[in-house]
Amino acid sequence: MATEVVAATDHAGPHGASGATRAVGAGIPVEISEGVTRVLAPNPGILTGPGTNTYLIGREDVAVIDPGPADPGHIDALLGAVASLSGSLRWVLVTHTHPDHFPAAAALSARTGAETIGFGARDGFVPDRSVGDGFVLHVGGPGGAHLRALHTPGHSSNHLCFLLEDTGVLFSGDHIVDGSTVVIAPPDGDMASYLASLERLRGLHPPISAIAPGHGGVIDDPLARIDWYIAHRKEREAAILEAVARLAPAGSLDIVRAVYDREPESVYPLAACSVRAHLMKLSHEGAVRAVSSKTPQSAPAETPPGADDVVVVATSTYVGSSGETDDEWWELA
Ligand SMILES: [Zn+2]
Repeated sequence: MATEVVAATDHAGPHGASGATRAVGAGIPVEISEGVTRVLAPNPGILTGPGTNTYLIGREDVAVIDPGPADPGHIDALLGAVASLSGSLRWVLVTHTHPDHFPAAAALSARTGAETIGFGARDGFVPDRSVGDGFVLHVGGPGGAHLRALHTPGHSSNHLCFLLEDTGVLFSGDHIVDGSTVVIAPPDGDMASYLASLERLRGLHPPISAIAPGHGGVIDDPLARIDWYIAHRKEREAAILEAVARLAPAGSLDIVRAVYDREPESVYPLAACSVRAHLMKLSHEGAVRAVSSKTPQSAPAETPPGADDVVVVATSTYVGSSGETDDEWWELA
């Protein structure tokens, strides 16, 4: 069952990605379905699992989704894969502007003239064409395909998934990965948006047939995986609410410790991102509020801190901390 593959963490990359991806190795094109080829980038790591998946769609006119890091070997592998399809690279689509997904776009475009496409300029990525929800790219050639952009904020505010409308395969970037859940790191990461985006994908008609994620192997049970993702976040949220109620006022790190008590401290920095994302969602919803000190505030402060007032503490605050760095306290609203 999927939940055995998906590690009980929502902070690290896909540790348990499919053996197929690992066994094949970086740089070797793998046809994962008709007209869809995957090339794994050589950037394995805690946040990238086996590495970033770059996908090639089409045969004559080829589109790349998530070119990956600007690794010369990876770029050569991609161009070799395009050549082996007897194709020419026409488009480079980017799901989001995290550094494991887009940097090779510039080199690919420079070497082929391919048009770069993404949500907009950010983080050093400047697409030739900025697109949003509903944009459809017709990938020509025999058996041409249609890629529809779906704006799926949550992991990042500029995240796009791409749906291959002809077959129902969803290229999910980092919105859904194989082998773990994904990091939601505020302020750009937003838990409420993330869950709304998941619900939207869950409700697509016709339903998604498979998910080709940014990391890990193809997910053949997409709806079950989305259900698990949503259920997992709801469980975490319930655990966080319980910790806030029990510890009130609860320091951010104490909440992390309470919710991730069965996990090693090494996961706390990333876990803290997810906890923060949940707390900001709960704050927006009026379920919790930030208080300025450890002293309980039975009456509302003169200026009740709204979610927008919440100071976003850098992730590094939590690294190796022992609790003394807690500077935010939470209680039920
Ligand atoms: Zn990624």
